[in-house]
Amino acid sequence: MRLANIDGRANVVVEGGVIDVATATGGAFGPDLTSCIAQIDAVASAMAGIDGPAVALDDSLLGPPSPHPSQIIAIGMNYASHAEEMGLEVPAMPAAFAKFRSALTGPVGDITLPSDSVDYEVELVLVIGRRTEAVTPQNAWEHVAGITAGQDFSERTVQMAAGRQFALGKSYPGFAATGPWMSTIDEFADPADIGLGCSIDGVQVQDARSSDMIIKIPELLTILSGIITLEPGDLLYTGCPAGVGMGKNPPTYLKAGQELVTWVEGVGEMRHTMV
Ligand code: ZN
Repeated sequence: MRLANIDGRANVVVEGGVIDVATATGGAFGPDLTSCIAQIDAVASAMAGIDGPAVALDDSLLGPPSPHPSQIIAIGMNYASHAEEMGLEVPAMPAAFAKFRSALTGPVGDITLPSDSVDYEVELVLVIGRRTEAVTPQNAWEHVAGITAGQDFSERTVQMAAGRQFALGKSYPGFAATGPWMSTIDEFADPADIGLGCSIDGVQVQDARSSDMIIKIPELLTILSGIITLEPGDLLYTGCPAGVGMGKNPPTYLKAGQELVTWVEGVGEMRHTMV
């Protein structure tokens, strides 16, 4: 099932459009996205036999699939190819940092560049489905409601000026873009091997597979949940592969007028215009 945020209401994406969950279930589920994410299996069961009425998808109404995460956590240096291009060592523990919630945005629209050193980072983003504390690699996936595409926009000057504290450089408005919707785990042939990438004005700049992650998703959730508690709707950016602008010589950052298209296989694509 693909769960979308259409103008703040939970909708299921089907062939030919979207179906409003609250309307289709007589109010049993929805319209709140977070409550649907927290009971994703029940929502999927309730919506399984419903194929209409669907309305045409209006891209401009799409919002972030999880609009009210209690926290947005991101992982640095989780692809060896990216650590190499950044000239940084792969750390022994996940290099977890916060993206503050005010940075959250959806899959379409403008991104305001605060400077001329804003970089792009395509990432596979997990949407947490249930309270997650001290999970094991064996049951970690049970805590994930679904997967969405993410952009971890990064203002490199601020990021690097703050020592090893990445949060501010990663948290300008719009810097946590997610969407176009959340796909549940059963949508993927192998959730440990998913393609992801992005392009600028049609030129592909990142293209990778999540199977190249250094710390795989079950181990990542095990380590994180041994320290922090994740709640339904929380977002986990799982790291960025090679191809970022900072890794080029000279560095090549985003410019006003460019269109950035970000995609995750089995989910879909986001389109943002730099302004
Ligand atoms: Zn990142």
